[in-house]
Amino acid sequence: MCPFEYHRPKTVAEALELLDRGVPLAGGTELTPRRDEVPAVVDLQELGLDYIELRDDIFVIGAAAKLQAMVENEELLPSALREACRLEASLNLRNMATLGGTIMSADGRSPVVTVLLAMEALVVLEPGSEAVSLEELLEQRDQANHRRLITELKLKRPEILRYEQVSRAPTDRPIVCVAVARLPSEGSEKGYRVVLGGLGSTPIRIQKAETSLAEEEDINAAAEAARQAYASADDVWASGEYRSHTAGVLVKRLTTEMIS
Ligand SMILES: Cc1cc2nc3c(=O)[nH]c(=O)nc-3n(C[C@H](O)[C@H](O)[C@H](O)COP(=O)(O)OP(=O)(O)OC[C@H]3O[C@@H](n4cnc5c(N)ncnc54)[C@H](O)[C@@H]3O)c2cc1C
Repeated sequence: MCPFEYHRPKTVAEALELLDRGVPLAGGTELTPRRDEVPAVVDLQELGLDYIELRDDIFVIGAAAKLQAMVENEELLPSALREACRLEASLNLRNMATLGGTIMSADGRSPVVTVLLAMEALVVLEPGSEAVSLEELLEQRDQANHRRLITELKLKRPEILRYEQVSRAPTDRPIVCVAVARLPSEGSEKGYRVVLGGLGSTPIRIQKAETSLAEEEDINAAAEAARQAYASADDVWASGEYRSHTAGVLVKRLTTEMIS
């Protein structure tokens, strides 16, 4: 007998009512192994949240879009985002795992979250249709009372977007990864985002590097800021010294391509 309640709503409104009783079930790749912990699941597969669109230079991607559908969407999505989706998980997992589920369960070694942060992703939450920055959502997501449903993500279309990672084997999660983006700017100054991943609970923005690029296009200062950010980034996978050096090399390489 199924040990928990299973619900498959047809509309977002129905799903929101059911979230009083249980948790969202997307691809199930992270949730299913810990199904004993949840009293009920609310399956999102019939809500029509699997679209991938470009509207007025903003990518709008439904929370239930599969990672593999993003990999295959050559027509719309930037190659760096597609590559990050490919590197997130194996093919079988990518065919099940969704963008929303990945955001809610990813750690600091997530290629996808690293690139989404560089694209200044906004996450739309229901109820309320509130758009919060992905950074804010990542801070809130572990709170026990986080009962909101991610319905879609909005991503700025970057002028340039690059991603690179170093891992122990080609299919491993990264020890260090970097995403850099040049985003459309409102004033005369260019808007840069530099995001470093490979450790901890989430990838981190390197704001000092962003300022050095925006104000002076200073690649060396940007690389130094990345080195400092990972100076004590030790764990079982790599020493702080190795991570720090690699972060500097990747930031320098990607920003040189971007600025020259
Ligand atoms: C064999 C295997 C290996 C794996 N290896 C790794 C790994 O190396 N690194 C890693 O990070 N992960 C790994 N995972 C975990 C998992 O594959 C990913 O994190 C995946 O991207 C989760 O997506 P999902 O759609 O399957 O989410 P689900 O499992 O359906 O849900 C994950 C969480 O997100 C919540 N959620 C889902 N959708 C929404 C939404 N729209 N709004 C609000 N909350 C939502 C769920 O309630 C749940 O708490 C692995 C999983 C398996 C089975």
